[in-house]
Amino acid sequence: NKQVIFKNFVEGFPKETDMYLKTSSISLNVEEGSNAVLVKNLYLSCDPYMRTQMTIYENPTDLSSFVPGTPIEGFGVAKVVDSANPDFKKGLFKINHTDVPLSYYTGILGMPGMTAWAGFFEVCAPKKGEYVYVSAASGAVGQLVGQFAKLMGCYVVGSAGSKEKVELLKNKLGFDDAFNYKEENLVSALKRCFPKGIDIYFENVGGKMLDAVLLNMRNRARIAVCGMVSQYNLSKPEGVHNLMLLLEKRIRMEGFVVFDFFHQYSKFLDTVLPSIRDGKIVYVEDVAEGLENAPAALVGLFNGRKVGKQVVIVSRK
Ligand code: NDP
Repeated sequence: NKQVIFKNFVEGFPKETDMYLKTSSISLNVEEGSNAVLVKNLYLSCDPYMRTQMTIYENPTDLSSFVPGTPIEGFGVAKVVDSANPDFKKGLFKINHTDVPLSYYTGILGMPGMTAWAGFFEVCAPKKGEYVYVSAASGAVGQLVGQFAKLMGCYVVGSAGSKEKVELLKNKLGFDDAFNYKEENLVSALKRCFPKGIDIYFENVGGKMLDAVLLNMRNRARIAVCGMVSQYNLSKPEGVHNLMLLLEKRIRMEGFVVFDFFHQYSKFLDTVLPSIRDGKIVYVEDVAEGLENAPAALVGLFNGRKVGKQVVIVSRK
């Protein structure tokens, strides 16, 4: 059995060498009456929050850090190989709908999908015709927020870090407009895309991006703070200068954590599955083959390499 081991706490951008692959043996039997379940990993998810677990914090939140010398932990899709637990039969997939790609349960039908759904519909409270801006828009969460917003009848603009990703947003994911945040002045790009201002900002990036958005928001606008990926590799977070505008423009800014919405998972599935099946929502994945490529895949969340949702295939069955 192979494991990706976390070497030590990281400062700055994570590197492949912050992790290493280890082969070890584990018992392939579960003890009768132990309630234990033995699973075989099929698809693993790489998510930005894992970078925050590579840092040791003075004031820890409820997300604990990785332990040096132990395997990196995360979400994934696995098959039950053996079980002493009555709720998990051998060979069983707890996943009930298998007519869609199983890897989708790490993305559109998993934690990032729930994040987009809860953040957009519950926190942003969108209305038809509103102007919506999504940062990190080609990623696992952003590409869905944009498509949900289009289905609601909103006008949607996204930003991403390359020409290829900007094209993807406009041509495949149905965004009305998109820009490359690495090449443009953020304030003027937003002014051009939203001459009448922004009603809803789905915040994935933070820092300078948030400052530029605040200058371009309308009165009574909403900001759903989903993440601030531009800050995760900094030892000291950047300051945000335009927060006074929250007051002047009567803006509501609200953070949220997806785990608080997991009880709504079946409602989420009932809404999203039909839209996938009839092609109203599409999903872009970036697939790394083999656990040995997982460290590079994880690092690729922060260097602009990957396109769409980053998945690692360990085994297809
Ligand atoms: P993504 O698939 O979007 O991967 C991260 C993306 O961030 C990259 O594709 C990259 O895109 C972009 N990025 C990296 N560094 C920077 C930077 N310095 N400035 C701007 N963009 C950058 O990840 P997810 O869709 O899974 O997550 C999106 C956000 O949502 C993250 O902030 C994450 O932490 C957050 N999140 C929050 C949850 C919650 O419960 N609140 C749950 C899940 C995710 P590009 O090439 O365009 O730069």
